[in-house]
Formats: sequence, structure tokens, C-alpha cells
Amino acid sequence: MTAVAELMDYAEVVERFDPVLGLEVHVELSTRTKMFCGCANLFGGKPNTHVCPTCLGLPGALPVMNGRAVESAIRIGLALNCEIAEWCRFARKNYFYPDMPKNFQTSQYDEPIAFDGHLDVVLDDGEVVRVGIERAHMEEDTGKSLHVGGATGRIHGAEHSLLDYNRAGVPLIEIVTKPITGTGERAPEVARAYVTALRDLLRAMDVSDVRMDQGSLRCDANVSLMRKGASEFGTRTETKNVNSLRSVERAVRYEMTRQAAVLAGGGTVKQETRHFQEADGTTSSGRTKETAEDYRYFPEPDLVPVAPSREWVEQLRATLPELPWERRKRIQQEWNLTDEELRDLINTGAADLVAATVDAGAEPGEARSWWVQYLTQQANAREVELADLPITPAQVARVIELVKSGELTNKLAREVVQGVLAGEGGPDEVVDRRGLKVVSDDSALLAAVDEALAAQPDVAEKIRGGKVQAAGAIVGAVMKATKGQADAKRVRELILERVGG
Ligand SMILES: [Zn+2]
Repeated sequence: MTAVAELMDYAEVVERFDPVLGLEVHVELSTRTKMFCGCANLFGGKPNTHVCPTCLGLPGALPVMNGRAVESAIRIGLALNCEIAEWCRFARKNYFYPDMPKNFQTSQYDEPIAFDGHLDVVLDDGEVVRVGIERAHMEEDTGKSLHVGGATGRIHGAEHSLLDYNRAGVPLIEIVTKPITGTGERAPEVARAYVTALRDLLRAMDVSDVRMDQGSLRCDANVSLMRKGASEFGTRTETKNVNSLRSVERAVRYEMTRQAAVLAGGGTVKQETRHFQEADGTTSSGRTKETAEDYRYFPEPDLVPVAPSREWVEQLRATLPELPWERRKRIQQEWNLTDEELRDLINTGAADLVAATVDAGAEPGEARSWWVQYLTQQANAREVELADLPITPAQVARVIELVKSGELTNKLAREVVQGVLAGEGGPDEVVDRRGLKVVSDDSALLAAVDEALAAQPDVAEKIRGGKVQAAGAIVGAVMKATKGQADAKRVRELILERVGG
């Protein structure tokens, strides 16, 4: 093979090739217990404390299906416009991996519970792309390996590895798209928009925490290229566990430029899994991709088939909440937003958060301004998604309420929000703990006013002489003395009362 440039310029890539995407998203369900046993389904916790004979794969232990997880799977399928299987089974996917104590994963193979649906995805400029959903199936998560002693945290270079089985057996739904074609240069953007739309949907349904940073939503991005005009798909690579929305976009883009360079140089793309490097935005070779035959799938003999009656499916359909796109249509009408305003709200990731804040009792204008301005700044400063800021819409609504009732000034409100973001508790707790209430006690304010007037007798004289605007200096001194916790308007009134009287 001749030497080739490692990456092709993106403009040239999309001129010469058509990308084909396939996105696999794993979602951890937020059920109380695991998929096949009664262990707690909780993120974190002391290693190996949420385990039992079943999720440790001990001899003789038998699985029992989590009914709530099946319900969630069906609801997710319905929200994705899928058909729901009348009858389906679990299968065993056989392979050895230290974080999988049973040596097989209980998954669904050729009989997924939901199949053949779609999700409409809105791009930044408002264009809608319909992404076909191949299937949504149930499975269980693996445990976690912790590789110790290496520089990268990967197994290469590690001195030893630790295993934590708390996550083993946590219910997962894997949602697989049909091949996404025809997106051209917008492929990376479509990938990101799809995962965003899916995350918003699952959050609205309250079936998962959908925290990419904690791994409760994980995306594997399959990318291949075909030469312009070709009809057969090229060989794909699968970039695993891309753990932020931005990384999804970057990983797809990088793979397109890498594969194009390989193909243009006369080489062939290897079918393999790849790892995404957050630091430099590149992918590196993982393992050669297995085929389905390698896993020796066979039907799980220890679990009964799942045969949801049509009545049950319809009952579950009736439990679907207002879905993000329905909610967006509604808020646009209710808040009188132009298409562009709505799009800005959506593009900052704020639409659903604002709506939830309004649902919690805040006025739309106030809710919008908090999320789009101050909180967006905070999210940018921390380099996290707006939705991943550790503050809830209900807490934002409470802060707004405290400002409205005069208990907080805007400045104090921002300090309260800082406290919430720092993990000091809810707004009321932060107010108590930091002592942030507005000083509304007139006697305390009067004492401060008197002190300030006494300290600046010349200013006091000016005010007395009719120069009311000179009161600003006294207001400033009082605000300083009360550490900004006074209502400036009330302070001004008191100053004029004092001097005038
Ligand atoms: Zn267990």
C-alpha cells in the first residue's frame, strides 16, 4: 500500500464520498432493581455491594424478569413509533469478559420487543431528518473493570485490574437505527441531533437518568463511506461508548476523514471497533469486530417468552407523557415564539428545561431568561450540557419565586444558584446556610443608613439641600454594609425619610 495522508480534508470527503451512519444507543433504565434479580439499581456505591448470586452468575441462581423494565421497553418502543412484538424471547450472547460473571449476556437477538419505527430529528437550521429505527431490544449491562497503574486508564500499561459488579444486570435498552443515508456533509450533525432528540425523549418519559457523563446513555457510532454514485455500503467501523453529544459529532466527522484517506490511498477499511479519544478528537483501533455467529446465540432457557397482550400495549401507550416535539409545538403557541426563537431555545438545549420550569410555576419570560442566559453561561464555563447542570427546573422555579416575593434580589438569587450548583442543597437550604435572605427588617436597615449618613456628612447635606441623586452614594454604602442583601429601593426610601425628617 502506498503511503497516504492520514486524514482527508472534510470538503473533499463529502465531494467524493457518501457517508452511511448507524447509531446504537444503550440506555440504562432507572428501575428500582436490576433486570433479572432484586439487587438495587443505583449508580455508584461501594464496589460489589449491589450483588447477589444471580447477577454474579453463581451456580444454580436463576433469573426473574423485571416487569417494570419490560413496561419501559414497550413504552420506549411506542414513543419511537415502533411495532411491539406479540411474542419475543431473550437469548444468550456467549463470550468471556471479566466484567461479565455469567460468561454470557442475557440479551434479545432475533426477536426484539420493538422494531421498525422512526424518530424525527430537527437540525440547527430547522431541517427535519427522519431517522429509521431498526429495533429497540432489552438486555442487561455488564460490570465495570478498573485498570490501575497505567497512564490512560486502559488495560494497556495497567499493573492490575479491579472489578465492580454493581452494574452487572442493570436493565438496558439498546436502540439501533436503520442505516442513515443521504445526509452528506451534515452526517456528523445528524448523528449529534439524533442522540440529542433521543435523550430528550427518554428524559421526558422519565425512564432513565440519560446522563452521558455517568454512562446511563451511551452511543456507539457506526460509520462507513461509499463512493459517490455507488449503491453498495462500504465497510463500517464502530466507535464505542462516545460519552458526550459533542463527541458523537466529532467522532463521526473524524472517522469520515480517516476512512476517506484510507480509501483514496487504495487501502481498505478494516471492520473493527474503535475508541474515541476525547483529548484530541481522534479514534484509535480497538478489536476486530465479531460477527453474530461468533457469539453462538441461543434462546435463554431460564426465562419465559414475553408476549405482551395488545390491551396491555394500548394501556402503556396511554401512559406516554407529552413528548418533546408535542411540548415544543405547545410552548411555541402558548409563549408566542417565532420559529427562530423556538429554535434558539432548542439549540441551547433549554426548551424542555424552560417548559419544565414553567410547569413548576415560573413565568415563561423569567424561566427563559434564567436558562438561556445565566445558566447557559454556567454550563459553558463548566463545559457540560445545560441539562447536566446539577440544578432542576423545580429549583430554578423556586429561585424565581423567591425573587418575586422580594426575599432575594437578583444578585442574591445568582448566589443561591451558585450554591445549588456547588451541591449545597436546594435553594431554601442554600439561603439558610449562606444567610442570603434580603434584609427586610427596617430597623436593621435604618441602623445601616444612619451609620452611612454619619460617615458621609457632606453627602447627607447635599441630599438635605435637595440633591436627591446624591443618595446613590449612601445606598451604595448601605448595600456594602449589608453585603448586598438589602433591597436597594427600600434603602433609598429610608434615606430620604431620614434626611427629609
Ligand atoms: Zn443481583
